[in-house]
Amino acid sequence: MEHIANITTGLDIAQIRKDFPILQQQVHGKPLVYFDNGATTQKPQVVIDAEARYYEEYNSNVHRGVHHLSQVATDAYEKARHIVAGYINAAHSHEIIFTKGTTDGINLVANTMSRRFLKAGDSVIISSMEHHSNIVPWQIACEEAGATLKVIPITEKGELRMDVYESMLDDTVKMVAVTYVSNTLGTVNPVQDIIALAHARNIPVLIDAAQAIQHISIDVQALQPDFLVFSGHKIYGPTGTGVLYGTTEWLNKLPPYQGGGDMIKTVTFAKTIYNELPYKFEAGTPNIAGSIALGTAIEYLQQIGLPEIQQREEALMAYAMQELRKIDGIRFIGDAKNRSGVISFLVHNIHPFDMGELLDQQGIAVRTGHHCTEPLMDLFQVPGTVRASLTFYNTKEEIDKLVAGVKRAASMLL
Ligand code: PLP
Repeated sequence: MEHIANITTGLDIAQIRKDFPILQQQVHGKPLVYFDNGATTQKPQVVIDAEARYYEEYNSNVHRGVHHLSQVATDAYEKARHIVAGYINAAHSHEIIFTKGTTDGINLVANTMSRRFLKAGDSVIISSMEHHSNIVPWQIACEEAGATLKVIPITEKGELRMDVYESMLDDTVKMVAVTYVSNTLGTVNPVQDIIALAHARNIPVLIDAAQAIQHISIDVQALQPDFLVFSGHKIYGPTGTGVLYGTTEWLNKLPPYQGGGDMIKTVTFAKTIYNELPYKFEAGTPNIAGSIALGTAIEYLQQIGLPEIQQREEALMAYAMQELRKIDGIRFIGDAKNRSGVISFLVHNIHPFDMGELLDQQGIAVRTGHHCTEPLMDLFQVPGTVRASLTFYNTKEEIDKLVAGVKRAASMLL
């Protein structure tokens, strides 16, 4: 347990860290200090076990067999869907579509939405701080429909220009797709206002919750997005898993994304009747083990308690910012009032890759580069940044090591 007044929560972090086998290892002879949680989070043993248990004890396809193993697998897979629905307070579990991840979910919506609802002269609104996966699918959709992609500008601090956003909402807009939390700046966007303003004009909204779902409590019935997407691997679950939440109304209005097994009710060569929700959007054999283990990851998080996690992460962020600010020549990329999980910075004119490599030699994992937000890098006129992304299992001591590591790297590189 840490004895730091502002970081101590009810959580026994030393004990919790033992749940994550990977955190016990050494890198380059130093204890691993993992600050790349924005890219992917580490997995607790219960998640690893849940995935293994499926293959060891009940590996079988879902929704297909009457035999015992298939029933067990189907029950576990559908239980995971209920866990996800409960976690985000979806009104119905059929509003939870299992996907490969955030990218897959956005592509699903952009593709099906544009096929049915986008035409020449229409427009789609995204923001300047989107991940490539919330830019490119909409570019493709707009190109194919002859529609225009419009981009909400941001301030120097990395906050959305809500006044400009409001003025952009005209009759041509058929979709708004924005990130809840920026993976590069850490900015927490006012998604409630974004949704309310769009809904006042009957425009649907997709929220990219890839960097929010693991840090912020989300109640989709209160927030009322039409779509919300996230990746399992960023919330302590397996890679290749994810969730698309959509309202029953919208999911019923959209055409299927992919055709194949499971998404059909009946097939003849003349005509196919599609399956009901959620199966209409889950063509083929899904990542059964992964989705089951994603359910376990969410249960693990719920056992620790999202409010406690949030409180700890806020304290860690505040401490990290306070200590990093003391470094000579440091410049933060993004300094929003409301932020979560992510700190992007540069020190003097040191290239982020050089800084990243020297930190790695000290056992400290940070992300360097454009973070899949190249347009944002262009806006800030930087080649990339060093990004430290925190989560609840990080410690004050690790932040101290990061700060010391950055100082040491700077002294070697300047
Ligand atoms: N959106 C945001 C904000 C992200 O941070 C990421 C991943 O870093 C993605 C989308 C894409 O997630 P995935 O690669 O898991 O599909």
